[in-house]
Amino acid sequence: MKTSIIGFPRVGELRELKFATEKYFRKELSTEELEKKGKELRNKHWQLLVDQGIDFIPSGDFSFFDTTLDAAVLLNIVPKKYQALQLSPLETYFALARGYQGASGDVTALAMKKWFNTNYHYMVPEIDDDTELRLVGDTLFTAFNEAKEAGINTRPTIIGPFTLLKLATYHGTKRAVDFYEDAIDAYAQIFNRLAKSGCQWLQIDEPALVLDLSTAEVQQFKTIYQKLLAKKGTVKVLVQTYFGDVRDAYQELIDLPFDGLGLDFVEGRKTLNLLEKYGFPEDKTLFAGIVNGKNIWKNNYKETLALLEKLQSFGEVVLNTSCSLLHVPFTLANETGLSKTVTDYFAFAVEKLAELNDLKQIIANKQSNQALLNTNIALFTQERFAKNEQVAQQVNALTEQDFVRLPSLTDRAVVQKDKLKLPILPTTTIGSFPQTKEVKQNRAKFKKGEITETQYTDFNKAKIAECVAFQEEIGLDVLVHGEFERNDMVEYFGESLDGYLFTEKAWVQSYGTRCVKPPIIWGDVSRSNPITVAYSKYAQTLTDKPMKGMLTGPVTILNWSFPREDISLREATLQLALAIQEEVLDLEENGIEIIQIDEAALREKLPLRQSDWHSEYLDWAIPAFRLVHSKVKPTTQIHTHMCYSEFADIIQDIDNMDADVISFEASRSNLTILDALKAIDFQTQVGPGVYDIHSPRVPSVGEIETTIHNILSKLAVEKVWINPDCGLKTRGVPETEASLKNLVLAAKKVRGGV
Ligand code: GLN
Ligand code: ZN
Repeated sequence: MKTSIIGFPRVGELRELKFATEKYFRKELSTEELEKKGKELRNKHWQLLVDQGIDFIPSGDFSFFDTTLDAAVLLNIVPKKYQALQLSPLETYFALARGYQGASGDVTALAMKKWFNTNYHYMVPEIDDDTELRLVGDTLFTAFNEAKEAGINTRPTIIGPFTLLKLATYHGTKRAVDFYEDAIDAYAQIFNRLAKSGCQWLQIDEPALVLDLSTAEVQQFKTIYQKLLAKKGTVKVLVQTYFGDVRDAYQELIDLPFDGLGLDFVEGRKTLNLLEKYGFPEDKTLFAGIVNGKNIWKNNYKETLALLEKLQSFGEVVLNTSCSLLHVPFTLANETGLSKTVTDYFAFAVEKLAELNDLKQIIANKQSNQALLNTNIALFTQERFAKNEQVAQQVNALTEQDFVRLPSLTDRAVVQKDKLKLPILPTTTIGSFPQTKEVKQNRAKFKKGEITETQYTDFNKAKIAECVAFQEEIGLDVLVHGEFERNDMVEYFGESLDGYLFTEKAWVQSYGTRCVKPPIIWGDVSRSNPITVAYSKYAQTLTDKPMKGMLTGPVTILNWSFPREDISLREATLQLALAIQEEVLDLEENGIEIIQIDEAALREKLPLRQSDWHSEYLDWAIPAFRLVHSKVKPTTQIHTHMCYSEFADIIQDIDNMDADVISFEASRSNLTILDALKAIDFQTQVGPGVYDIHSPRVPSVGEIETTIHNILSKLAVEKVWINPDCGLKTRGVPETEASLKNLVLAAKKVRGGV
């Protein structure tokens, strides 16, 4: 059996690509230097895959920002306003990714959305009626040739036309179907050009096939590929799916003249059923996703081998990962702080390559590889997760009432108004202020033991004082302490929770140059000591205005951690909810009157198929949030924040979280969510986010005023809050200060006119 992977973490073992790109953004690196770094990393990764015995090696999975954006640019899907800037190709690319404000003009970035059910974000291609979809770029070919020069015949990978056009947004009257013909021509050109260069296999990613598809869509998929595959020439085409099973399109898929089908046996609950029910064509190769590309636990060889035995009866099988390894950290090799008893259970990207190779060897020769198998079997026969009986009992003892906050939202609004005395259209921020070099250095020095704990906290306190003074000066109404102590939204909390493990270098790309380092849930979770209380309490002493306490909610903590595999996600989340509940009550007792519990990632693990939404997720995720705040006083105002605004379809569930105020990002998606809020008469007060913090550009007062008026045309003024659309940690100081000043001025101007 051969081995294959779908994609590899391009950011590099030590996030080399991130650092190089950021240097380029700061103009400390030239275009040539950045290109060189990219080339160096691509070559290094290909070589690594070769060394680890991987047979099918991808190219085209590398990107300076996002592979969906790469595909869009390759196919000329670049809106006019970016072309009009007349920048170099690389600058145009980054203008699409991050917006551009400079001598050539002023444009916002493309919208960014979560990539299926992951914490990776892709750039949403924008298509106008006059978009000319045709092959214009050459990144894919350059990468293939580069590898070829290094003696490696790679399998180029590109997102397929069906998924690409399904994920795009359309500004004019045309829709995806109107671009299919052009797409077919362009992809056919790609196939032929690659074939000419000596390419043997090509990987077309069509993850949209794991979504709920209408009959019409399945038919469209079929038509596209009937036409496209008729033009494919000599190259062999693998259609690759991941993040689920392809139940709506399986029969069509096996009938089409693909050479390989990539199916997910990890998240695809029905994949095996589909094969058993409808068979698998003899003339195709099955790329079987059996090594989990999303979690960090070792593969259970015995189970996988049993599955493979079944699969072999269907024909030629290639051992594959379930999805791109982009979603797991690079390697365990740099985790020097964790004991071997723990790391024995982990496999990051590089170790997953070894797993594929182990499985290949065992299948080729079971006898001589028996020891390999036995070691793995032994791992799975031991008790592997740290237990805490008390926590398990607490979860079991929960009753209906634990999930209900009294009095009702409307009654609470009255007492809170009385107590907090906020103006209409109150202004606030989402929590974090810029994590400057000094802020990061302070943390790093403390971690390395170069400064004392007092020095460390004194620095943070000085930053808090500075931050509070600034907020008072510009006239914000509800203040925050600025989150200078936080490394990230989850790790910071996990550090005060029993049952958590932390890594040093286990970064995973979230979007562009941004990476996250998800902690690992290793046992039953409980709060070992107060987490945010001291800093919040201190910040409140500096001002008479309300200081908003700042926590991360249980669903987000779970979704941004690597979860256990032995208990349900529901149980793990309830454990977290009880721990955060303790923190909420602690803050309240210490005089904090407004507490924001971020559920930035609530939507992230929403099952991809709507039929599973409630039963598999929302039915426990929403109550888990309610559990966190159900015991606070009526006067304590609970806020929550969610990133992105793609939740029109679960809007009622969001309202059912029963927070007093919710902030989210609507600015980047043109406030479309407001209609959904209006339609269900959304009860929670709302701060839809009046400007986009993902870009360094500064919104003008007038621009923000317009946005506020837009919001007020849809929502009652007494329900509206004015805030940026997310935390400011990734921004620089100058643009943050300028933007917030404008925000407050805009709110004041609108107030004057209401
Ligand atoms: N309070 C967090 C912050 O401001 C929220 C961030 C987020 O939702 N991603 O950074
Ligand atoms: Zn956010």
